[in-house]
Amino acid sequence: MTRAWTSRPAADVLADLADLRRVDPPTHGGRVLSYVYDSGRADLDAVAARAVELFLPVNGLDPTTFTSVAALESRLVARARDVLHGGPDTAGSVTTGGTESCLLAVKSARDTWRAADPARVHARPTLVLPTTAHPAFHKAAAYLDLDVVPVPVDPARGTPDADAVLAAVDDRTALVVVSAPSYPFGVVDPVTEVAAGASDRGVACHVDACIGGWVLPWWGDDVPPWDLAVDGVTSISADLHKYGFAPKGASVVLYRDPARHRAQYFATTAWPGYPVVNPTVLGSRSAGGLAAAWAVVEALGDQGFAALVAQTRDATTRLRDAATAIAGLRVVGRPTGPLLALATDDDAPDADRVDPFHLVDALRRRGWLAQAQPALTQPDGTVLPRTAHLTITPVTQRVADDLATALHDAAADVRGRGPATPDPALAQHVLTDGLPDDLAAVMATLEALPPDVVRPLLVEVLARAVAPPPVTLVTDPPRA
Ligand SMILES: *Cc1c(COP(=O)(O)O)cnc(C)c1O
Repeated sequence: MTRAWTSRPAADVLADLADLRRVDPPTHGGRVLSYVYDSGRADLDAVAARAVELFLPVNGLDPTTFTSVAALESRLVARARDVLHGGPDTAGSVTTGGTESCLLAVKSARDTWRAADPARVHARPTLVLPTTAHPAFHKAAAYLDLDVVPVPVDPARGTPDADAVLAAVDDRTALVVVSAPSYPFGVVDPVTEVAAGASDRGVACHVDACIGGWVLPWWGDDVPPWDLAVDGVTSISADLHKYGFAPKGASVVLYRDPARHRAQYFATTAWPGYPVVNPTVLGSRSAGGLAAAWAVVEALGDQGFAALVAQTRDATTRLRDAATAIAGLRVVGRPTGPLLALATDDDAPDADRVDPFHLVDALRRRGWLAQAQPALTQPDGTVLPRTAHLTITPVTQRVADDLATALHDAAADVRGRGPATPDPALAQHVLTDGLPDDLAAVMATLEALPPDVVRPLLVEVLARAVAPPPVTLVTDPPRA
C-alpha cells in the first residue's frame, strides 16, 4: 500500500523541524545534566557546523578514494595519541561514538585471544569488568558472543579492588575493562594495578576513557595514572563527542600494539563487488562527524582544552561542596573528573533523608534535568545505591550558583518523603499511556522488577515511542 504525498516547500519542512526541536530540552545553557556537553563557546559550535557542512556528502567508506578522510583520521589519531600518551607504535581509529569504540576493542581482544591458540577458534571467551563498566561492553559481549564476568565494586568507594578483578581473570579471559572514570559514579578504577596484573597473566586490558579521555589530561595532578602511559594498558577509548565538544558521532579507540588495531578490521573479497575493508562497524558513512571533531580539537588547542577543563573543574568543585552541605544527601565515593552521583545519606535521620528519584523529579519541576540511576544488587549481594547523576560541563560554571540553589530547594521539596516505592501497575500504565511527568515511581518499579521482566518492557516502551502512527484507511487514489 503506497500512497502519494505532495511536495512541500523547503521553508515549510524546516519550520516543522524547528517546531519539533522546540519541545526538546535545551542542548545549551547547562540545564541538562547528561547527554549534552556544552562548551559554552558559540564559535566552536560554528566551526563544527561549517565542518559538517563541508564534509557531509563525503563518504568515509573509502579513504583511498576520498583521501581527505585518510588525512583527517590520521591527524586526529595522532592528536589523540599525544593526549593519551601513546608511543610510536600506537595505532587506532576514529569511530562514530563510545559504544562503537568499546565494541571494536572487544572485537579486537576476542579475535586476538582466539588467534593465540587453535583450540580457541570456536571457543567463547570472557570479558571481565567491574559492575560500574558501561553497558556498551555488555552489548559488545552480546553481539560478539563473550560471557561477561562482573566484579563487584565497593559500594562506598564505587571502585573495585584490583585483586578482585584479577581473581576473575583466567584462561578464557579475552579482555579486562577498567574505567577512567566510570559513568555511574565518576570514580577512576585502579588502572595501574589491574593493567599490571592483566599483563602478568598475558591478558589484554582496556581503559574506557570515553568520558575522561578529553578532560582528565587537563584536570590536574591529583589524577591517578589512567592512560596509555600505564604499563599493561592495551587499548583505550575516548569520546570526542563528550568532552572533545564535537557534535555527536565521534570517538577514538587506540591500541598500544598495531596488531591489536588490525584485529579490529573486517575485510572480505567473498562477493563479486569491490574488495571490502572496514576498520569500523559502519560501511558508508558521512565524514561530517570526523571533520567536525578534528576542527573543534584544532580550534581549541591545548590551552583551549585547559581553559574549558578549568571551568568544568571549578563548577564541579562548587557543586560537590553544595551537594555535600545538603542534609540527607551525600556524594558517592571520591569522584575524579566532571561527574557526580548523589545518594541518600543513610546516616541522616529518616526525616532528613532525600531520595534521589524524588530529587530528580523535583529538579525537573524546577527546570533542571538530572539523571536517575537505579540501585544494583551485585553478584556478592552488596547493593549499589540509587543515585542522581550530574554531568558537569564548562557552561555549568555560569549557572553553578543557580544549580546549587536548585539542588538545595529541590532537596527541601522532597526531604523526609521516604524512598520512592515500586508500583507494579505502572508497568502497564506506561505501556498504554506513555511516561508520566514524575518518574520516581517508574524508576523504583524498574529497579524492583526482575531484569528478565524489565528488559522486554524497556524495549516495548521505546519501540512504541518511535512506532509509526496507526494505519488509516487509504482514501486518496493509489499510485500507479
Ligand atoms: C558515553 C560512554 C560510553 C558509550 O558512549 P556512547 O558515545 O554513548 O556510545 C562508554 N563508556 C563510558 C564511560 C561513557 O561515558
